Amino acid sequence: MKTARRTLAKPAGAGARPLNVARESLAAKRTRARAIARGLDRLYPDAWCELNYRTPFELLIATILSAQCTDKMVNQVTPELFAKYPTPDALGAASPAAVETVIKRTGFFRQKTKAIQTVARRVAEDHGGRVPEAMDELTTLPGVGRKTANVVRGTAFGHPAIFVDTHVRRLANRLGLTVSDDPDTIEVDLQALLPPRAWTAFAHRLIHHGRRVCAARTPRCTSCALRRWCPQIGVTNAA
Ligand code: SF4
Repeated sequence: MKTARRTLAKPAGAGARPLNVARESLAAKRTRARAIARGLDRLYPDAWCELNYRTPFELLIATILSAQCTDKMVNQVTPELFAKYPTPDALGAASPAAVETVIKRTGFFRQKTKAIQTVARRVAEDHGGRVPEAMDELTTLPGVGRKTANVVRGTAFGHPAIFVDTHVRRLANRLGLTVSDDPDTIEVDLQALLPPRAWTAFAHRLIHHGRRVCAARTPRCTSCALRRWCPQIGVTNAA
């Protein structure tokens, strides 16, 4: 989906020190998290999942394929995949070699073929062909962890959900919203700072910001619109 970017208030100057949050109370952190969420909303008002999908099943499969692969590449293979195998039944019963050929460009194609066909069969056999919405049912599907389950719950079903991928984990730490590296703990920490109605969009927008500005190797702090709220924890090579 196309994302409009707008300019926020001017960030602090290039020489300004990062915010000090060492003694920040939970209430102050909540206030700051909400300011960050509003800032992201203004920057990326239309940000949503960058994987193309039409149904929860397609999003589930696309999310599994996106491991170690760009969303752009996944979007290049899924139209053919879902045209050939439009239902969990069809995908589960397909020839593995044929599926491998279609998804080969996403990398790790043998493991991914096995993963998506196993999930497809479980959805077909145990859930009547419909992806379940409940977290405990989603995470009992083979290879589906909390991150994938939250992506599907939040994005396709509209439940409040924070999914912690590599971008969310990095930004949550740099922004001083968690001190944990553990995705499950980060999810709980972020949930405590924002109202549930904000969770899903916040996670999508953090991912957008991580891809466009707060890159893993060289975050563009000098021009970052979130800088006034960011302690830049662990950042040593900002541009
Ligand atoms: S780019 Fe820098 S200022 Fe912006 S969110 Fe990342 S670490 Fe913070």
